[in-house]
Amino acid sequence: MPDNVNPDAMRLDVLAIAAHPDDVEITCGGTLIKLAQMGRAVGVLDLTAGEMGTLGDENDRWQEASDAAKAMGLAWRGQLGLPDSAIQNDQTSRLKLARMIRDTMPELVILPHWEQRHPDHVACSQLGYDACFLAGLKKLDIEGDPHRPRKIIYASYFRNTDSSFLVDISDQFDAKCDAVRAYKSQFGNVVTAKQIFQPGIDIYELMQHRAAVLGQMANVRYAEAFTIKEPILIDDPQNMPVRSV
Ligand SMILES: [Zn+2]
Repeated sequence: MPDNVNPDAMRLDVLAIAAHPDDVEITCGGTLIKLAQMGRAVGVLDLTAGEMGTLGDENDRWQEASDAAKAMGLAWRGQLGLPDSAIQNDQTSRLKLARMIRDTMPELVILPHWEQRHPDHVACSQLGYDACFLAGLKKLDIEGDPHRPRKIIYASYFRNTDSSFLVDISDQFDAKCDAVRAYKSQFGNVVTAKQIFQPGIDIYELMQHRAAVLGQMANVRYAEAFTIKEPILIDDPQNMPVRSV
């Protein structure tokens, strides 16, 4: 792992946790940018360095992740050092992640949706939930003050079709693409970009299409989708956004 990985953890409002560098940019980058623009302290924790990727080494990928962090206006980015393509939701990993949650004390945690093609993403989803729970246990045998995030939302990928709510990212979509472009080793040119994500698929076209389809459902240009496991409580149903007819 490069030396400059993991700057000292800082107190955050929002922490997005994902398996690999570039995951959050693709799934919820627009929302992270929007939250940062609102003045929130937004951070990202990549569980692995993405070292099993075909292109680029660990140093490249950390530099790219740092550049993407700048493009998104993040306050902090770190890596947990779990093994790429071998993330396990075991107690060692849970405690390691719970320690980071205590150190950063986020109120909102964003995890990947649990229906995924990559096993690391599936493991990250449950591992993240379990660590959020454990981090609040006073008697847990790790350092730091107990802290449990108030809200967990799951960022939609391409596989799941259900979602609980959409975030309008029309004004953030270009910056989201810039953040993905920071991963030069992965998405730097058309040929490799079409190999790395899913063979033959241009990641920018896919993101644009997906965000536009989601946006159309809410009558905005571009949106990102999230799922939550608990209901949404509404004060004033008469003024809920998005027209029914
Ligand atoms: Zn990934």
